[in-house]
Amino acid sequence: MSFTKLGLNPNILKAIEEQGYTKPTLIQEQAIPKVLEKKDLLAAAQTGTGKTAAFTLPLLEFMSSKPHKKEQKAYIKALILVPTRELALQVFENIQAYSKYLHLKTAVIFGGVGINPQKASLRKGVDIVIATPGRLIDHMSQNTIDLSRVDFLVLDEADRMLDMGFIHDIKKVVAKVPNHRQTLLFSATFSDEIKKLSNSFLTNPQTVEVARSNTLSEQVSQAVHYVTKEKKKSLLAFLIHTQEWNQVLVFTRTKHGANRLSEFLNKNNISSLAIHGNKSQGARTTALKDFKSKKIRVLVATDIAARGIDIELLPHVINYELPNVPEDYVHRIGRTGRAGNVGEALSLVCDEEAQFLEDIEKLTKTTIPVRDVEGFTISSLKKPKKTSNTKNRSSKRNSSKTNERRTKPTTNKKAKHSEKKDFKKEVEEFIDNRKRQTSKRNSNRKITGNYRKGQGSKSK
Ligand code: AMP
Repeated sequence: MSFTKLGLNPNILKAIEEQGYTKPTLIQEQAIPKVLEKKDLLAAAQTGTGKTAAFTLPLLEFMSSKPHKKEQKAYIKALILVPTRELALQVFENIQAYSKYLHLKTAVIFGGVGINPQKASLRKGVDIVIATPGRLIDHMSQNTIDLSRVDFLVLDEADRMLDMGFIHDIKKVVAKVPNHRQTLLFSATFSDEIKKLSNSFLTNPQTVEVARSNTLSEQVSQAVHYVTKEKKKSLLAFLIHTQEWNQVLVFTRTKHGANRLSEFLNKNNISSLAIHGNKSQGARTTALKDFKSKKIRVLVATDIAARGIDIELLPHVINYELPNVPEDYVHRIGRTGRAGNVGEALSLVCDEEAQFLEDIEKLTKTTIPVRDVEGFTISSLKKPKKTSNTKNRSSKRNSSKTNERRTKPTTNKKAKHSEKKDFKKEVEEFIDNRKRQTSKRNSNRKITGNYRKGQGSKSK
């Protein structure tokens, strides 16, 4: 199918052609006609599938077909709610590109930056607003935004907004937009919570599901390395050096962990920046810009901060620590293998994370191949005995949120000690060790890449 067949106007077609899009992605092919029929939509789409254009293009089509007179001040017709500032900026950039030849004004509003410039742009009049819930509520309570004429409401990455505790804010916002609006809800997964949300906010929605919930992009090859907690840092640096990776997105579970890892990498001649909720918006934007332009090699991110990272051809995603919420694994590795490109996702897994790995494999119905790196990896994982911390699995979501938002990291003396150990020493040790292992077949300096469970992810 071509974009022309979707019935979009020539100015939109021209803009998307300039973006290099030749044909609609699956979600676009399925969602755009339904939105153009003025139906509410409940869409399950993995990140990286082209979902932003799937909801944006038909909205632009509607809005451009009813342009307001030049002398008339624009008013908000479309409100797009997103979970994070990064995603807000990403959606904003996309809309700017797609509406290049239309006379529509777009504003993006999120916290962590001054509110006054946002007020000024709203005062001038805009057609589309992309907002994170918290700052939108600030504007609503200060009466600096008028949502009374909103025709289109989009809840993007709704599952994530629920995870981040935005449900009350979302309800407040929905209460302020007209009932006769058209509502589109996008989520990576169709959980019961999402279905509940859809029942209360959407009217007879059409459903679109391009990839089964919690399935992984086939474009991404996955592998795990079994490794002790202490060796993770040096294994990561070793892989980046020897494999000559130039653009690597690394996930940690805590903000402090992200900072420490980034410092370690910089000390070992691997340029890196950390991005997480404690960083100012300016620092986050700079880090993303430097990473996109390859000024730095590694971006170390926590889950929440990584939302909205969209880099074409991002080749490597590393889970330095596995997420304790298995759905986050799907989100994380969806950062690579986007829009038809191939990518690689590696996870460094230690004993304490054996259960997380099991949960991920169960959720995604895959067996992730295990890859060895001589001198660094261990042959198997030993699941630690359950403690009171690991017993309560129902509190997993909360603990994941806490990791990002407020907890102090647990300080493990052994881990701290090994952090100080110079990476060069580790490599020297590795080389010595390797020389001794004369029986091993391949003695060049590249990793062996042995797979023990199989050659690729396969259905169980
Ligand atoms: P999204 O899922 O909206 O984050 O989009 C992921 C990536 O796919 C972005 O880099 C888009 O620019 C790109 N993209 C969206 N639609 C298309 C298309 N029809 N053809 C090629 N790339 C696309």
